[in-house]
Amino acid sequence: MSEDLTFYRDTWAEINLDAIEYNVKSMIQHLGRDGKVIAVVKANAYGHGDYEVAETAIKAGADMLAVAFVDEGIALRKKGMRSPILVLGASRPEDVQISIDYDLTLTAVSLDWVMQAEKYAADGELAFHIKLDTGMGRLGITKREELEAVIEFACTSAHLKLGGIFTHFATADELDSDYAEYQFAAFEKLIDGIAYPEWMIHCANSAAGLRFPGRIFNTVRLGISMYGLAPSMELKENLPYPLEEALSLHTKLVHVKKIAKGEKVSYGAAYTAEEDEWIGTLPVGYADGWIRRLKDSEVLADGMRVPIVGRICMDQCMIRLPRKMPIGTQVTLIGRQSEEYIPIDEIAGRLETINYEVPCILSARVPRMFLRNKSIMEVRNPIIQS
Ligand SMILES: *Cc1c(COP(=O)(O)O)cnc(C)c1O
Repeated sequence: MSEDLTFYRDTWAEINLDAIEYNVKSMIQHLGRDGKVIAVVKANAYGHGDYEVAETAIKAGADMLAVAFVDEGIALRKKGMRSPILVLGASRPEDVQISIDYDLTLTAVSLDWVMQAEKYAADGELAFHIKLDTGMGRLGITKREELEAVIEFACTSAHLKLGGIFTHFATADELDSDYAEYQFAAFEKLIDGIAYPEWMIHCANSAAGLRFPGRIFNTVRLGISMYGLAPSMELKENLPYPLEEALSLHTKLVHVKKIAKGEKVSYGAAYTAEEDEWIGTLPVGYADGWIRRLKDSEVLADGMRVPIVGRICMDQCMIRLPRKMPIGTQVTLIGRQSEEYIPIDEIAGRLETINYEVPCILSARVPRMFLRNKSIMEVRNPIIQS
């Protein structure tokens, strides 16, 4: 293995690209013939690895990619991605020319933004989608007149090319919410009668795509469920097709020792052995995204659940083993070992947060290993990769 294809600390995330492919294909099939998919790969593909996930999603049939910021779009282009990329967030009008140069599709959030943007489009044509705010209260146009003005302005400009109109739901993951219906109606009303033969018209995130395949207009922005995660716990019980979780997180025992009853472990000496115990040390800590709040959680070793003991350090943490285990024993923090399974939702539950956050906070220090057909296709380790 060449140096930039490996890592020297045994902590890594495995990304099963077959699962990504399966999750994208399942959504496409669920939507039927005319449904398009925008694969949302912002935030380094929710921590999974932007380029590899993007490439897999496109090969699986996605029509476009989406990121949050121009920087993320440029990163994908620099890695060689050629497919269309939509920047979902609000970009600076000053960055329109670089967006044209990198062939990024931007999001227009107001008439004022579009007029500013046009001034900065010196060379070439800016592709953009219009964002409508139908109740999320975050970004976008709320008035029909302003929408019409943007469309008219774009149609008469040689530097602007309108490719779509979209909105975003605030509650699509809640089964008993009337608010999504309210937003559907608001979106329909705003775009009613506006001709859009080849535009992408999209309102649905994963939750809306899963729940309302017949009401997506023509495109779904597929994020969380591409990674095999349910958008909410209640939706998890009501999925139209099974999801396959793509990410697992592993490490290995680097030190194993027996401590006597009464001896202490880690900062604060906050853990005291209740009897003679086997303690294993893992080279993973809060700087990797395995944050201190996880101090009472469990990991898998030799197919068994074992507890983390003592405080989680920046680079390391300790676990209590039922018996002596050899150095180098693989320990799984997220994922499966024989019969035992720690899903991302379990970690999210312990952290009192949503599953989205868990892979997102795995830091760049954790190498990502990409698997196809259970064999390693590639490793990304930004720490030593240029
Ligand atoms: C992140 C994001 C999505 C993806 O949402 P999921 O719930 O992960 O499917 C869709 N649209 C916008 C505007 C987003 O910011």
